[in-house]
Amino acid sequence: MSNVESKDNVLTLADVKTGEYGVIVRITGHGSFRHRLMEMGFVRGEKVKVIRNAPLRDPIEYEIMGGHVSLRRIEARRVEVVPVTEEVANNYLFHGTVTEDTERILGKAGKQINVALVGNPNCGKTSFFNHATGMREKVGNYSGVTVDSKVGYFKYKDYTIALADLPGTYSLTEYTPEELYVRQYIMEQHPDIVLNIADASNLERNLFLTTQLIDMNVPMVMALNMYDELEKNGDKLDIATLSELFGFPIVPTVSSRGTGIEEVMARIVDVYENLEEHTKHVHINYGVDLERAIDIIKEDMRVHLDLSGAYSTRYLAIEMLAGDKVITELVGKFDDDGSVAKVAAEQRAIIEKRYNEDAATIVSGAKYGFVRGALLETFKQGKDRSKQPAYSVDKILTNRWLGFPILIFFLWFMFQMTFTLGAYPQAWLESFFGWLGEVTTRVLPDGIVKDLLVDGIIAGVGGVCSFLPNILILFFFISVLEDTGYMARAAFIMDKLMHRMGLHGKSFIPYIIGFGCSVPAIMATRTLENRKDRILTIITVPFMSCSARLPVYLLLISAFFTKHQGLILTSIYLLGIVMAVVTSLIVKKAAFKHERDQFVMELPPYRIPTFRNAVIHMWDKSVQYLKKMGTVILVATVIIWALEYFPQHSPAIDAYTAQIEQVEADGTLDEGVKAERVAQLELDRSACQIENSYIGRFGKFVAPVFRPLGFDWQMGVSLITGFAAKEIVVSSMGVLYHSDAEADENSSALQKSLQTHTWSSGPDIGKPVFTPWVAFGYMVFILLYFPCVAALTAVKRESNGKWMLFTAVYTTTVAWLAAFLVRLISMAV
Ligand code: GDP
Ligand code: MG
Repeated sequence: MSNVESKDNVLTLADVKTGEYGVIVRITGHGSFRHRLMEMGFVRGEKVKVIRNAPLRDPIEYEIMGGHVSLRRIEARRVEVVPVTEEVANNYLFHGTVTEDTERILGKAGKQINVALVGNPNCGKTSFFNHATGMREKVGNYSGVTVDSKVGYFKYKDYTIALADLPGTYSLTEYTPEELYVRQYIMEQHPDIVLNIADASNLERNLFLTTQLIDMNVPMVMALNMYDELEKNGDKLDIATLSELFGFPIVPTVSSRGTGIEEVMARIVDVYENLEEHTKHVHINYGVDLERAIDIIKEDMRVHLDLSGAYSTRYLAIEMLAGDKVITELVGKFDDDGSVAKVAAEQRAIIEKRYNEDAATIVSGAKYGFVRGALLETFKQGKDRSKQPAYSVDKILTNRWLGFPILIFFLWFMFQMTFTLGAYPQAWLESFFGWLGEVTTRVLPDGIVKDLLVDGIIAGVGGVCSFLPNILILFFFISVLEDTGYMARAAFIMDKLMHRMGLHGKSFIPYIIGFGCSVPAIMATRTLENRKDRILTIITVPFMSCSARLPVYLLLISAFFTKHQGLILTSIYLLGIVMAVVTSLIVKKAAFKHERDQFVMELPPYRIPTFRNAVIHMWDKSVQYLKKMGTVILVATVIIWALEYFPQHSPAIDAYTAQIEQVEADGTLDEGVKAERVAQLELDRSACQIENSYIGRFGKFVAPVFRPLGFDWQMGVSLITGFAAKEIVVSSMGVLYHSDAEADENSSALQKSLQTHTWSSGPDIGKPVFTPWVAFGYMVFILLYFPCVAALTAVKRESNGKWMLFTAVYTTTVAWLAAFLVRLISMAV
């Protein structure tokens, strides 16, 4: 940092003494630090009173906008001020506008905006500088003998804009003296604005540098220079959208003629005065693995470093992950035990091993992916195609006509494989658990332990486990599609369509994962930058019918529909998607009005997926699911079993038992008749026992809620047990509807007993409970209602408790209404 001279002596808040006043001139530091201070009221022109500032005291206490806040000393040094007397302070009003008073007090200090010109060599920086300042710097190639900057001044309205013409660089790494110089200038001098000059006739390369500035989180304006060249080539660029995607103003310029320079200055003043409404901080998404590594390094920085807002920790983390030695050294100065460097090296090693590539290359690849995504959305190539690569896979995969069929094919293939391939291990697991149950029955003595193991744990968990292969296969395919880079293209082509539904293209990936399990899907929403988009996606993901619901559909469809089975299953899935769209539109209208944010859809480089990576990513997604099985489902199964098992005795039950004993003891009866009567009595006894059990009593208690939907109390209870996990619904139905019906080639024992189950009371007594309509209404309810506990926990973790509550209540209400609608339709037809 030696060749960057330090700033003139400026007064900061840390220098103002107790009881004295200052007016804020500027705040230096990276974007989110300044943003945080601004939210606390530290804006330019605002007066601050020092309540307590003892030399050795930290933090310092201030009064601002009538409230008390404290800043750490190291933070207060980032706030430049003009000292004023108490009288001036009391008569001085600042409401975000620059009045005569502000001018008088801030004087020259607040009116000077320091701007650094950053851009590729030969993009026209010096031409811009000369035109703006009236100076005569040599225009032409910088031959890099002395690495230096020239400062010139420019008057715009009543501002003095100090322009620093920095050497041209293609990048901001540590490899050349120019790059190092420019980077250190930005990090140490904290220019108020970085003016990024980009050559419009060579956007892809120029915008690469821009991505590094975005990482550094500095306030920016872009001059899109050589705009005449772009027009001459016949290229078209949607500047407004590009500006929205990047989060800073972009002005087309022709600096050799001086066109656009005034406009650039106007935007600089806007950004400086925080009047620029389109300014936002954008994160470049580096993909799941890198983002996780960045988070881990950032977390270690939070614990070990005190950077006081001077640098963006995300930027430092990215550079350390990429192995930048200078940044690593810089961070080392703040880090006594070298912990951050160690963590960064570990993460780098993991990433490099996984991708078999240098971490710096992977990071650059992601940056180009960001640029490509932004350009694909905003840039149309003119006549001259010689400068562009002649052929690109993206042109086909994101093509307006070919993109959708290709996407649909891949999705169809993925789901097809999931269920056809998954059927084999599913059958193996089912027979394994069947065998395990038999063996346990034989080995253990009769009693409560045996009942718990066989009917509770093995039946419950086994039923759920058999579904695991499908989930793993689905996640494997999703991981492969993500790893190749195709998912990003899918998200890209879905973007326009999703926007129309109030969603974002990036929501597409969570939705697809949601067909497997909502928990990893909700976690996958982290790639969405905007909080509103994230929340909309999080609360609608549960409508994507997760694979845990599938066993219920399969059970009911094959029991009650002989024709159009595939169509009915598809209609259930489609209904979920429709509900997600409707919900998203409603919530967007109600809660997030006037939010229109666009983000870059990164197009990461295509990679050949490795089996190892796909397995690692599949595993990441499956871990949550496995945890759910080991904990929630196991516990819920045992609880439900117990609620159904107890109490074992009541006068009615005991009467059956006595009757059974009586029949068995009756010597006059033929053996065959005796066995038949005993079996019938045992069946009646267990029906009586379930009805009298805790769950039976509870079911009867809540039955009125489900009665209008045409559901009996057993169906209601099964739904309630599904709160824990949807997989449990089938096993609950197995318990509640158990009968001695024999399975045949068309139906399982459970299906048989559903088909023959009748109302035992009420107006429909004796009529069958299940009709195709009731089964359909039940599936609709299962699809829409209360997501499982694990999913709700994920909703809470990724948004907040309020949205969790909303999701729980909203989904259940919608489910009831939809099932009621099905009921009404069924009665009308
Ligand atoms: P620097 O290396 O970024 O300082 O770029 P210079 O200002 O030295 O400009 C490099 C070359 O580009 C010079 O020949 C300029 O005349 C030319 N140039 C600068 N701006 C423009 C522009 O907007 N349009 C065109 N066509 N040429 C430009
Ligand atoms: Mg130059």
